Amino acid sequence: MERTLIIVKPDAVARGLVGRVLSRFEAAGFEFVRMRFELLPEELVRRFYAEHEGKWYFARLIDFMLSGPSLFIEARRDEAIHRARNLAGATDPCEAEPGTIRADLGENLPRNCVHASDSSESAAREIGLIFGAD
Ligand code: ADP
Ligand code: MG
Repeated sequence: MERTLIIVKPDAVARGLVGRVLSRFEAAGFEFVRMRFELLPEELVRRFYAEHEGKWYFARLIDFMLSGPSLFIEARRDEAIHRARNLAGATDPCEAEPGTIRADLGENLPRNCVHASDSSESAAREIGLIFGAD
């Protein structure tokens, strides 16, 4: 069974979409292992998104992630990583396929409702950052 980190981002929390986002993952067979609902300290948000440092949108991404609390979820199922990425859809809600979370519920960039780890290495790093070791 593979693990991934899902985030219901601040835009979705503020718009009352937490339940709808979680339902989609549950309906797709994901099992939730741990959850944390919190506005993270800036230092941790910057570490989480360190690979984007230097990108033109980095400040906007960090400001967005600090605009309110998020729900962090460690979830598992077989092929969790690519299945969660497929459910989330393309990064830009305007380019995401209809039926994906970002197409149906996202607004624009960076306000795209959800995060899902992009590899097993990322998942291990992200789950460690948010929840600590097992
Ligand atoms: P993904 O979340 O699909 O893995 P990326 O790793 O490329 O996408 O980007 C991380 C997050 O940064 C995105 O989910 C989005 O919130 C934000 N982001 C990415 N590209 C842009 C952009 N061009 N403008 C503003 N925000 C962006
Ligand atoms: Mg990414």
